Amino acid sequence: MSMVLQENVPLAPMTTMGIGGPARYFVDAKDEPTLIEAHQFARRKELPFFVLGGGSNIVVADAGFPGMVVRISIPGRERMPGDDKDSTGRIYRVGAGVDWDQFVDFCVGQNLAGVECLSGIPGSVGGTPIQNVGAYGQEVSSVIRSVRVFDRRAESVRELEKDECGFSYRKSIFNTTERDRYIVLSVTYALHVGGPPTLRYADLERYFRSASLKPSLQDVREAVRKIRRLKAMLYVPEDSNCHSVGSFFKNPIVKRSFLEELQKNYPTVDIPYYPVPNANLPGESPQEAVKIAAAWLIEQAGFPKGFPPESQRKSRVGISSKHTLALINRGGGTAHEILELMREVQSGVEKKFGLRLETEPDFVGFPNQL
Ligand SMILES: Cc1cc2nc3c(=O)[nH]c(=O)nc-3n(C[C@H](O)[C@H](O)[C@H](O)COP(=O)(O)OP(=O)(O)OC[C@H]3O[C@@H](n4cnc5c(N)ncnc54)[C@H](O)[C@@H]3O)c2cc1C
Repeated sequence: MSMVLQENVPLAPMTTMGIGGPARYFVDAKDEPTLIEAHQFARRKELPFFVLGGGSNIVVADAGFPGMVVRISIPGRERMPGDDKDSTGRIYRVGAGVDWDQFVDFCVGQNLAGVECLSGIPGSVGGTPIQNVGAYGQEVSSVIRSVRVFDRRAESVRELEKDECGFSYRKSIFNTTERDRYIVLSVTYALHVGGPPTLRYADLERYFRSASLKPSLQDVREAVRKIRRLKAMLYVPEDSNCHSVGSFFKNPIVKRSFLEELQKNYPTVDIPYYPVPNANLPGESPQEAVKIAAAWLIEQAGFPKGFPPESQRKSRVGISSKHTLALINRGGGTAHEILELMREVQSGVEKKFGLRLETEPDFVGFPNQL
């Protein structure tokens, strides 16, 4: 199919935050040849290029994007040969444009373990390896076998094995060392037939503590979706508390000595933290790293849920009343306002704790990388 080139297409409706201006050029790529044609067009015209998935982890500038935006809508799900010999494994190659939660629903329905805790994360399959999506004790990298990509530098298609993707907490080569180089075409996942659900996370453990039977994969999926809904972490278009990118800030990974200092300063508080087995902090052995809850730091710095209070609201953005990490568009908000709030929170936390919070989403169409 040859590409349909559109001009000045509004991007806000294609994002969960609902903010931002238009794309100068826009192509909806339902197959690889269309994507390659759009890429060639942009290269010939020397246009900036942006790859859009489900729009659930981006903040688009108010002026929009001055180049080519290609939305990856490649469909398909194919069972692959090479399942584990004892038939406890299943391998699926899934098109980058498939809705992630639909794939999770399929896996759970087939009694395939490995992604049940990642239920309810909005966005596309192609978006999952970019920041190695994770939630409730699972990360997608634990089930990714390989990623099929279009290499923009070599202008060719290749398969990257999991080990080549450099996965760690909210990171991969796709959003760090090889940023903007690869376009994900499909992802191959290895799932575990009938495997027990992962119950590592405190919220989930609590949920099932009183249950007499061991929860099934389906029970865990439903629980995760329920918990997410209560925190506005399930995308429900009618609820402005979900008009976010999920967590706007990453949980900072710090040296244990930093945590101990905090604990000294807050002796009566149980500061939420998690060990990080594979962290790579300079000069520290891996077991010395911990992840502390950014939400706790933000609240202590004076930014509670629902901030700013109704009487003090000057803009149309704020912190979700259900989740401290979610910056939301209450309706008619702008990217400029989101950035102002982001900076206010970052400098408040830095002033109080000497720690700069890193952001999670990608900023699209801003003159300088934020
Ligand atoms: C309510 C809510 C809850 C969320 N909860 C979580 C959570 O629990 N855990 C979590 O990790 N994330 C969470 N997120 C963030 C987001 O849903 C994920 O990061 C998701 O994987 C982003 O996928 P997407 O398709 O929407 O990507 P987009 O937002 O469209 O793009 C994000 C980045 O990925 C790149 N990208 C997208 N598709 C491709 C592709 N095919 N090839 C190359 N690059 C691509 C884009 O260029 C961009 O840099 C949440 C978001 C919301 C709104």
